[in-house]
This record gives sequence, structure tokens and C-alpha cells, in this order.
Amino acid sequence: MKAAVLSIGDELLGGRIVDTNAAYLCRALAEIGIRTVAGETVGDERADIAAAAERLARCADIVVATGGLGPTPDDLTRWSLADLIDKGEVIDDAVALEVVRSWCTKHRLPVNEARSIVAKRPPSATFLTNDCGTAPGLHAMVLSAQTWWLPGPPNEMQSMFRRHVLPALSPTDTPLAPTEVRAVGLTEVQAADLLGDLLDRTRRPRLGIRVGGRVVRIAIDPVGEDVDAAAINSLAGEVYERLHPFVLPQDADNLFTAVGDALCKRKWTLATAESCTGGGIGSAVTSVIGSSAWYAGGWVTYANSMKMEQLAVPSWLFGQDKPGAVSSETVQAMAAGARERAGSDIAIAVSGVAGPDGGTLAKPVGTVWLGLAEPEGVHARRILVPGDRDRIRTGTIDVALQWVRWVATGDDAPLLWEWPE
Ligand code: AMP
Ligand code: MG
Repeated sequence: MKAAVLSIGDELLGGRIVDTNAAYLCRALAEIGIRTVAGETVGDERADIAAAAERLARCADIVVATGGLGPTPDDLTRWSLADLIDKGEVIDDAVALEVVRSWCTKHRLPVNEARSIVAKRPPSATFLTNDCGTAPGLHAMVLSAQTWWLPGPPNEMQSMFRRHVLPALSPTDTPLAPTEVRAVGLTEVQAADLLGDLLDRTRRPRLGIRVGGRVVRIAIDPVGEDVDAAAINSLAGEVYERLHPFVLPQDADNLFTAVGDALCKRKWTLATAESCTGGGIGSAVTSVIGSSAWYAGGWVTYANSMKMEQLAVPSWLFGQDKPGAVSSETVQAMAAGARERAGSDIAIAVSGVAGPDGGTLAKPVGTVWLGLAEPEGVHARRILVPGDRDRIRTGTIDVALQWVRWVATGDDAPLLWEWPE
């Protein structure tokens, strides 16, 4: 079964409100295995509403429209529907009129022409009761599509959708919730490269890819002919394999909890030594419930003197023609110092040029050195993070923790934005 949604209202096209109704409807339909194939937004224009509804009725089995059912002159939906199915005719619905009358009596308001408008309907449409407001919804056949017309206020719309629309739709035999695989530490394009033919648009189930907050999300869309749970699981398995080791375990909330899980499995504790992230790594790991089991603590050593005093970074590293604060040598010394002084199994250190000033040809803004000390040795890697100061700092936190995770799980791959020497 295919669905379409129609959003009605000048305020939507004017950008004054965001169309949350369409998002709600698409998601609620997807949850019962019904794919939304089209959506339209139209203003409060009688002819436009009718034309859009007719277009959508041609491409879907069901259409859910929202908005324009109120009693004010800009609410034109009932007339548009009447134009479509009853040559513009509307009748007074006795039951609906009674509801309006008793509502007015209850609220000590006169029953006037304007308030009674919501009791008018095209003769071939039926009313849907509204428990949260006064405007009833409408149900009608348009061409061969079932159409539901619901009021715009989200609470009324949602309640009526659940009461009237959902029960009328038979969910596909086993409604399959959309599955999502998340990956971190790579770009959307890199993920697409690794997924290759799996992203083929003709494939069922179909994959969707999007990125937000540095997490690449691969949605496995359960809708399609012959798609069952086994097909979804097997495709999810294939996605996992291709995106390893970037993919997050299904049970991890985010990268930070995944780091904690990996360290716990290894029975390892972590220490941090931070410069340009100013404690951001420590803050990220302590956001995880139970992080006291695996996070020993850390240092924010911003000044070189702090690096030397707190972490025993050798003084010869600083000065004219020396490696300096942002260098392989310094982050390795920071990591080794933090590991030793915290008595942890592993330590991560970062030092970089967060900008906007301070960049040089050799160390442009965004240059960050990461140091990592673990039982087998001390290592350093360099990244060049794009963006402004904020993005450089938050991006560094993610990359540093990804590296920690990989060392704990025994995996490795190029870091995001890695800039090899
Ligand atoms: P209406 O039923 O067109 O009179 O809409 C009444 C109110 O519902 C509007 O002023 C909005 O605040 C809200 N509304 C209408 N359509 C939407 C929509 N698509 N998404 C979110 N809110 C909406
Ligand atoms: Mg409106």
C-alpha cells in the first residue's frame, strides 16, 4: 500500500511554522509498513488544495491531508473536497451541528453562522469525531484513493490519526520497524564508497544514507515487495561487514558509550591529557553512565609549563626550531606522562591549532596531533580537521575517542581527516 501526505496552510509556505504534521504521518505510516511515496504542501487556496489532492490520489492508495478545517475564512479544505467529489455541494451534518451546539452551550458562546461552518461537509464524505477540538475531520474517496482530512493543530491531528486512520489501515503482515546502522569516523562519501552496490536504488530492501553530527546513518528501509525480517537482517549484516571498523555496535548509544564498552571488555582504564580540546574528551567520556569503571581521569594542560610540570613533557621540546606544543613528540610525551601518573592502561593526548589564529604553513589551523600510550608502546597520528574553532575541537574529541576504541577492540583504519607525515 502506498501513501501520500498533503499539508495545507499559508503559514507553512510562508516559513512561519515547520511542517511537523507531515513528518509525524510519514513516520507513523512507516512504522506499520506503509511507504509514503509523495507529499505536497499547498497554501490556503481552494483550487490548489483540490488539484494537489487529486494529483496525490492518482499516485497513492491513501492520502492523509492536514490543515484548513477550521471555521475561519482561510479554512477552505472542506470546499476543496466538495469541488473534487460533489461538484462543490456541502450539506449541514445534523450530528456535527449538535456537537457544535452543545460545545457552544457548554462554553456559554452563541451558536452563529461562523461556528456552524465546521458542521458542513460534502454529501459523499463522512465526518471523523475530534476529541481535542471542535473541527471534525473528513473521510472520502477521491478517485480510487481513500482520503482522510485532519485538522492542523498537531495534538488534534495525531489523536485523530490514531483513532480514525490507523484502525482503518491493515498493517502489512509483520510490520517491520526501519533498521538503522550507524558509523562514525568517516565521511558520507567514504561510507557510500564502502557500501558500493548495496546503495543501488533498485535494491529491496533499499538503503538510505544520511549524515548528521558526524554520525553516518544507514537506514534499511523495510518497505518493498517480498521484504521480510530475514532480508533486512542479512542486509544489515552486510552493511556491518562493509563498514567495519567504523560501524557502532547496535547496542551502543553513541561513540562515547562504545568506547566505554570496548574498554570494559578489555578491563582497561583510560586517562586523558588535553590541550586544544580543553577537557572536552574528559567531558565526553564522563557523560557515559558508569564511566567511573573505566575512566581514571585527566589533565587539561594548555600552557607548555603545565605540560612540563603536570605530565613530565621534556622542556627541550619547546623553543626556537624545536618540535613545539603541536607535535608528535609532545603528544607522545603527554600520553606517556598521563598513563604513568594516572596508573591507567591507556592514555590519549591531543594538542592542536584550533584557530582562528596561530596557523602556519607547516601547521595550518586544524592541525591536531594525537598521542596514545598503551601497554605495548606509545604512538602519534596527525589529523587536519576542517571547519571553525568549534568544529575543530569537537571533531578532535570524536577522532581521539575513535582511536581509543580501535586500540581497545584491536581494530585499525585511517582516522577521519588523517594527515600522514
Ligand atoms: P488549521 O487547521 O489549518 O487552521 O491549522 C491550525 C494550526 O495548526 C496552525 O496555525 C498551525 O499552528 C498548526 N498546523 C497546521 N498545519 C500544520 C503542520 N503541517 N505542521 C504543524 N502544525 C500545523
Ligand atoms: Mg490553516
